[in-house]
Amino acid sequence: MVRTLCSYCGVGCGLEAVPQANGTYKMRGDRAHPSSLGLVCVKGATILESLGVNRLTQPQWRQKLTDEFQMITWEQALDILVKQLAWVRQKYGGDAICFYGSGQLQTEDYYVAQKLAKGCLGTNNFDTNSRMCMSSAVAAYQASLGSDGPPCCYEDLELTDCAFLIGTNTAACHPIVFNRLRQHHKRNPQVKLIVVDPRCTATAEVADLHLAIAPGTDIDLLHGIGHLLWQSDSIDQAFIHHHTQGFTDYVQVIQHYIPERVAQRCGITIDQLQQAAQWWGESKRVLSLWSMGINQSAEGTAKARSLMDLHLLTGQIGRPGCGPFSLTGQPNAMGGRETGGLAHLLPGYRQIENPQHRGEIEHFWGLPPGSIASKSGRSMWEMITGLEQNQVHCLWIVATNPLVSMPDLTRVQAALRRSPFTVVQDAYAPTETTEYAHLLLPAAQWGEKTGTMTNSERRVTLCPQFLPPPGTARGDWEIFAEVGRRLGFTAQFNFTSAAEVFAEFVQLTQGRGCDYSGLSHERLAQLGPITWPCPLGTDDTEAVNVKRLYLDKKFATPDGKARFAAIASQGLAEPPDGDFPFVLTTGRYYGHWHTQTRTGRIAKIQKMHPEPRLEIHPQDAYKLAITTGDWVRVISRRGQVRVKATVGEQMRLGTVFLPMHWGALWGEQMAANNLTHPQSCPVSRQPELKACAVRIEPE
Ligand code: SF4
Repeated sequence: MVRTLCSYCGVGCGLEAVPQANGTYKMRGDRAHPSSLGLVCVKGATILESLGVNRLTQPQWRQKLTDEFQMITWEQALDILVKQLAWVRQKYGGDAICFYGSGQLQTEDYYVAQKLAKGCLGTNNFDTNSRMCMSSAVAAYQASLGSDGPPCCYEDLELTDCAFLIGTNTAACHPIVFNRLRQHHKRNPQVKLIVVDPRCTATAEVADLHLAIAPGTDIDLLHGIGHLLWQSDSIDQAFIHHHTQGFTDYVQVIQHYIPERVAQRCGITIDQLQQAAQWWGESKRVLSLWSMGINQSAEGTAKARSLMDLHLLTGQIGRPGCGPFSLTGQPNAMGGRETGGLAHLLPGYRQIENPQHRGEIEHFWGLPPGSIASKSGRSMWEMITGLEQNQVHCLWIVATNPLVSMPDLTRVQAALRRSPFTVVQDAYAPTETTEYAHLLLPAAQWGEKTGTMTNSERRVTLCPQFLPPPGTARGDWEIFAEVGRRLGFTAQFNFTSAAEVFAEFVQLTQGRGCDYSGLSHERLAQLGPITWPCPLGTDDTEAVNVKRLYLDKKFATPDGKARFAAIASQGLAEPPDGDFPFVLTTGRYYGHWHTQTRTGRIAKIQKMHPEPRLEIHPQDAYKLAITTGDWVRVISRRGQVRVKATVGEQMRLGTVFLPMHWGALWGEQMAANNLTHPQSCPVSRQPELKACAVRIEPE
């Protein structure tokens, strides 16, 4: 039996692969895994089926996008790639090379990619789909608490007496987290569950208080709660005095968020607002959870920071059962950011734009000073604009399907058609993105390679190989390392195993906020999953203990004090108007994973969610003469979608919903991201994928 981790979402449930008499494996939940206690959702239960279909097994190449792909050997593929990288670097400089990666990569893959891109090729243009997932949470933790890293752990789900869920349909998107919280809520009627979501989701259905706020009014609501807490003196004066900065400025902002104005802007009643504030104020342990509904916004960092403001105001942080807990989307988005897998980061939560940090990494990697460029690299959307402006000459996409998941897909398609050289390194083909590739590199998938992943509660799990990769597919880190060696960096890439890669990476975390230095593959195999921080010298008992950050109330800022944000609300980047009178919100279905590269081929999941549906309120549907099952066109300033409608009271008046899982491979005009726009948070550079203005035309 092999103990591993579900590689779909950031919950990070433990799995056991049990060998069967016929040589296959059966998956079941791992009861010994502290994150999931043996529970799994439909994705984890069917994960093995996702390995058997639609696999890319051999490198393929074509000169032009209009040519047919030709099968080639790895030798030929690496030769083409290395020559192209060297040529682009010499002619245009490292900045013309971009990598677009994924939170599906294991920590070892991420680390070797950072060394190759930022260290050896001299490009900081390594961004990932995490930019679209949780970069606002990263920026907010950093600004408010001094460092990235959620301070809470899953055990807090069972210790809280008030759970405040905002911008997260946890029941569908993080099912096992929701399962744990729901059981606690059911067993303890005094525990309050507040859900903030414009849509009455499966999560909101079981809430004690559902605040169906108008899209884009999250900060109004949070400041409105802050205002009431401050007015009623339900705040922790001692905590504010000893452990924070910026309270006076915060009060200057929230004093204007009077209940009447907030209730009117949010579209809720004053009673509902007061109830939420009362439960915040009365509770001993408030745990807030959030995900894309907060992060995917042009004011995503401000939203996440305004939520943290409430925790600072009430001292609800640094104790069991409370704190601001960002739920990560991807299974290893956490491990990725810890290795420096975003365009502004270096390993160990170091910052590209900090000369000391660059120097430390260059020295450790055995590279001359100045090897790492001094400016932050391009975010994922800046790679698209770089293609539009002929500044990007090589784009290497790894383990992700941006031709479904990026905003404004028509513009992304046009940019990719201009790309002089696009490499797609993936386990699957065809995908919407492989259609735009010149070179395809087959990658081994989870279970076919060994590596580690870190889930939302900072818990690191070893995922050993137990299956052979199909055809000639290789592990991602092995591909990056081979390219590095062929570019002449033999000393930097002389790894012979994933364990060696991990052993090198953890050294760069020693003494940093995300200290992994007491971890190794061997230790993880021996002790099971371990949360960081786990510094070198941590004994076995301490290593497996549950960990929370900031228990001593010393935050990671220079003076140890957390920072109030005090930022006023802006609202939607693209509000509705006469031509586009509805707000479209996008989201996920329970069974599908992101762009369906895997779940789209699993019969059980396809049966659960065979097609995307536009959800619309009955009164809006009545005015447009739409009934459930009718075909409608959803049109924004950028494109359109043709889907069937589902009429239901779960939607707010004036707001409609589409799932984001469908792309061009499933049919013309099914992709929700044909409609969305790329306007981004100026701090986190995360686009506002969650909301745009549309009109609905019945057919
Ligand atoms: Fe996998 Fe997430 Fe489901 Fe757990 S909740 S089984 S990690 S998809």
